[in-house]
Amino acid sequence: MEVCYQLPVLPLDRPVPKHVLGRRGAISITSSSGLFGGPAPRQLSKRRGAVSYDSSDQMVLYIRMIDARLRSQTSYTSEKSERDGWTAQTDTVRSRLELQPGRSARCIHKILHTSCYCGKDTQESHPILDQEYISQAKFMLKKVGSWNFDVFLFDQLSNGNSLVDLTFHLFNEYSLIKLFELDVLKLRHFLVMVQESYHRQNPYHNALHAADVTQAMYCFLQEPQLFESLTSCDILLGLLAAATHDLDHPGVNQSFLLKSSHHLAMLYQNMSVLENHHWKFAVSLLRESCLLSHLSSTDRENLENRLGSLILATDISRHDEYLSEFRAHLNRADLHLNNSQDRHFILQMALKCADICNPCRPWHLSKLWSHKITEEFFRQGDIERRKNLEVSTLCDRNTYTVGKIQIGFISLVEPLFAEWARFSDSPLSRIIISHMTSNKLKWTHPPQENM
Ligand SMILES: [Zn+2]
Repeated sequence: MEVCYQLPVLPLDRPVPKHVLGRRGAISITSSSGLFGGPAPRQLSKRRGAVSYDSSDQMVLYIRMIDARLRSQTSYTSEKSERDGWTAQTDTVRSRLELQPGRSARCIHKILHTSCYCGKDTQESHPILDQEYISQAKFMLKKVGSWNFDVFLFDQLSNGNSLVDLTFHLFNEYSLIKLFELDVLKLRHFLVMVQESYHRQNPYHNALHAADVTQAMYCFLQEPQLFESLTSCDILLGLLAAATHDLDHPGVNQSFLLKSSHHLAMLYQNMSVLENHHWKFAVSLLRESCLLSHLSSTDRENLENRLGSLILATDISRHDEYLSEFRAHLNRADLHLNNSQDRHFILQMALKCADICNPCRPWHLSKLWSHKITEEFFRQGDIERRKNLEVSTLCDRNTYTVGKIQIGFISLVEPLFAEWARFSDSPLSRIIISHMTSNKLKWTHPPQENM
């Protein structure tokens, strides 16, 4: 992308003048010292790009930068190319992205992302520089129910806003905004707060994991066994719980919080410390956003309590307890989905499965998640070593490997997915088991090029 002299050329890190924001368009920028009237910092001298802005909506301000290197290498995609097929299109984009090690679609921190994939939003309402990403992201959302959904790619295309965009899309998909008379701006505000409350620096427990769990939850909610019976309230809760289930995760496990006498451990009396915190944090954001303020206090309280019950079910230390109960129900064939308590129990199981489904994804996605969780474990181990605390199981980088951890983890979760397959008895459940089996084999007998 070349600098366009017909448009204002602005220095980086300075406020954009009001008369510029009064228009819609794009500002091309460069870090050339000649244009900025002074020497540019070394790290900026390599940056060229553009800021696109849209001030047509007075409620929001949207500024986003597109990486010129990516733009220059990716051909413009028009609506007609949607006919060419989603897989081919996203594969092409992925291969281009992968050609540039270390590049990121997020080149400038967004002030507030306002892209919308539904309703009256049209292509014309977006700045042209964002068009390519938005078009690709919209394309991916059409296949959001696919088990092969590549949330890593979607996150890049949505400028790091995968959790906001995906959850907002699903709320629309189920007409939850209309059914619960939700205020769209409050909903977006709530989702942005949720996304921002995840810690970016965590290798694994960040907003991308929450987006992945939300997408998996959607797949499970669509299972024929469930779909017929679920109420709108169940769906609302299922999606909310998935999006918020790890809020404000500190990147260390409960064992670390206990041995370091963390205040949260004391607050929740060493019981499901993280999960209690995620739940309470979610409730605080719901209240702060006033998203449900139009409901009666009884309904709100009921929703908050059910949300807690779902999030608490993700405590992996209670895994065996839930698994035994699930198995016992299936053995007795006494789950009746017209009963609200039984439906709630199945939602708990669905969320548990969504939370730990990494080994059940296609290998290229599963492998990425495996490396991320291992890195988070090992970082905890490093901190424990520095603090002279006992290094937690799985967190010692001198003892464990990604493969060793994964083989153990798959052995732990296999029985749950076997019961889930018995319950749902669907093509998806068979795909899940098949991926898990083949991924375990790959970790057990790793061909060198796969690692
Ligand atoms: Zn999680």
